[in-house]
Amino acid sequence: MQETFGGSFTQQLPVPPEAEAAALAVLRSGRLHRYNLSAGEEGETGALEREFAAATGARYCLAVASGGQALAITLRAVGVRPGESVLTNAFTLAPVPGAVAGAGAQPVFVETTERLTINLDDLEGKLGRARFLLLSHMRGHIADMDRLMALCDRAGVQVIEDCAHTMGARWNGVPSGRHGIAGCYSTQTYKHMNSGEGGLLVTDDAALMARATMLSGSYMLYDRHTAAPGPDAFEEPIWECPNLSARMDNLRAAILRPQLRGLARNCAAWAERYRAVEAGLAGAPGLHLIPRPAAEAFVGSSIQALLPGWDAAAIAALVANCAARGVELKWFGAARPQGFTSRYDHWRYASPDPLPRTDRILAELIDMRLPLTFSLDDCALIARIIRDELERAPGNPALRQAATGTAAE
Ligand SMILES: *Cc1c(COP(=O)(O)O)cnc(C)c1O
Repeated sequence: MQETFGGSFTQQLPVPPEAEAAALAVLRSGRLHRYNLSAGEEGETGALEREFAAATGARYCLAVASGGQALAITLRAVGVRPGESVLTNAFTLAPVPGAVAGAGAQPVFVETTERLTINLDDLEGKLGRARFLLLSHMRGHIADMDRLMALCDRAGVQVIEDCAHTMGARWNGVPSGRHGIAGCYSTQTYKHMNSGEGGLLVTDDAALMARATMLSGSYMLYDRHTAAPGPDAFEEPIWECPNLSARMDNLRAAILRPQLRGLARNCAAWAERYRAVEAGLAGAPGLHLIPRPAAEAFVGSSIQALLPGWDAAAIAALVANCAARGVELKWFGAARPQGFTSRYDHWRYASPDPLPRTDRILAELIDMRLPLTFSLDDCALIARIIRDELERAPGNPALRQAATGTAAE
């Protein structure tokens, strides 16, 4: 009897009971809008901003309607101009180039390494073309931030971090989102805190935060923010910044605050699940796991692997055979954008130049979510199923090599 898995790859944990109680209190108060406060009241949204700033060690924090809005508002707040080129990862999610295009700017994509991070040699060659790098820590993989920041600082390129998959992660002890001028996070259901939709932006830069606050749609109520700069910083933005109405509301903030208190614990639980799947797949034929450097304290909310030398039909068959046994793998090599896996060359509005190294990696890249509803036994079972399918896959080049006695490279 073949083993199968019955869990759901899209089932997150319920919101914690404290979040339920806090949400109910907001609902009963009727004061859902973040600025609907009584005199001297901070409100759930203000409190979330203050607590998230403290958690990341940032001076300022702004809560907004989505992660994509956090990116788009940050790009405008730093002064990205229509038509200007903004560097970003070729391997990322659609809202990242979407935020650049939304600011009227032109994404310029940078190649991808075997570690799924931005290729720093390719980046170095492109630094002369832009004032800003929108750096996406896609699927939680963090580039060598020490080298990256040194390169960008030398070239005068400012870095904005997309931390949708690195909330709670660190590079060399520094929280992700705290290397560049601003860090942007998502609290959409599939990320590390869940309010359905939502985003957070942190920075130490008072002028940036004042502009972002005005852009987010604060009307002239910016003095109610407790993680924002003083009124002087707003003197220019109140005249210069359009209102994009992308605020967070008190209901979402109320749901998020207890989750923030549980974030470190959840990150530890993700690490255990990631390591359980990784251990179960170690040495499986035809599969290359992504090495994780010691400096990278990552959050294992998903796992990726490469299938070196596999052709498209063989990968499609593997994905289908795993799916038939309840294991949902995503593949980044499909010709058409599917689900959450669109690819840089699908984003035609950005007129992407071909990137052969990224193409080669995405063609071999598989991806799997690890929701916290999975137990460690579930993770071990999932790994056994994938391993079994790898060992019996007719299109697995590692098996062909073994059969013909050809040494693997
Ligand atoms: C989810 C995600 C975003 C943006 O998040 P939304 O809240 O859905 O707008 C940005 N970057 C990456 C890599 C993401 O996965």
